[in-house]
Amino acid sequence: MRPQDILIPAPAGLCCKPGGFHIDPVRPVERAVITHGHSDHARPGHGAVLATQETLDMMRLRYGDNFASSTQAVRYGEEITLGEVKIKFHPAGHVLGSAQIAVTCKDTCIVASGDYKDAIDPTCTPFEVVPCDVFITEATFGLPVFRHGDAADEVKKLLASVALFPERAHLVGAYSLGKAQRVIALLREQGYDAPIYLHGAMETITRYYESRGIALGELRAVQGMKKADLAGTITLAPPSATSDIWTRRFPDPVTAFASGWMRVRARARQRGVELPLVISDHADWDGLTATIAATGAGEVWVTHGQEDALVHWCKTRGLAARPLDLVGYGDEGESEVVAADEAEA
Ligand SMILES: [Zn+2]
Ligand SMILES: [Zn+2]
Repeated sequence: MRPQDILIPAPAGLCCKPGGFHIDPVRPVERAVITHGHSDHARPGHGAVLATQETLDMMRLRYGDNFASSTQAVRYGEEITLGEVKIKFHPAGHVLGSAQIAVTCKDTCIVASGDYKDAIDPTCTPFEVVPCDVFITEATFGLPVFRHGDAADEVKKLLASVALFPERAHLVGAYSLGKAQRVIALLREQGYDAPIYLHGAMETITRYYESRGIALGELRAVQGMKKADLAGTITLAPPSATSDIWTRRFPDPVTAFASGWMRVRARARQRGVELPLVISDHADWDGLTATIAATGAGEVWVTHGQEDALVHWCKTRGLAARPLDLVGYGDEGESEVVAADEAEA
């Protein structure tokens, strides 16, 4: 069976005709299989939704109880038959509950990896390499210039700055689903045990992570704190909040931003970020290329991000490769676009 007869790009998203579903559809569909909770992948208004329990919970928290007509929680490794295909979820290492979807029809296996990273993250199940015939990869950081390095070193930079400026507050811009919790967990791994403060928009999802057994230490709402009491503290906030009047409640704040884009100095300067932290929930160039090679796939389809360089790299390695030209994805987790729920105070 030709891979394009199993999965094909359609206006609503990646469509599996023999299985009767779409993966991460950007428009309402009858049956959606969803890789993870970021708002560009997990949208409301579908009929049936299949996803991990965590992804379903995050959709419920964000969109309310009626976000879909029906839901089915799928565990990692569980096999489900839909029409003429079998699907299986595997950990993607991107955020809590994130999954790659393996779609098998007759003898052909295609893996739609959603967003993923191969770096260690204490807040989610590690990425798993899934052998397949066709690997569908994102390309958010699909240029050789993107090498993220060790996230622990970035957190050490933050702690060094806190030690150096005890009279100032440290404000860390981080996306509210995944990145914020990872930064907190990384701080705890470095032995930082003081309370960490949260912007109001971070609270629901962070408390949800805790309810799933992710230990994050003592967390406090920044709301209602006296300005002077925030000297020497660390507060996590949505990136948009770190450049608005909301920051006036902090004593002489040092503004940090945790993102893979912080590798690009000009971006940090443009945003007025004093302390750029290169911490990403996406694979970097080395991660993307190593993963493609490890899957053993002979064919690679490249979705959102910097497709061209990755397609070219695949071809030089003798792999069939093409961009998928799916529209509607620009990850909330890394893009400059801030989700509506993060813009609130
Ligand atoms: Zn994502
Ligand atoms: Zn994405």
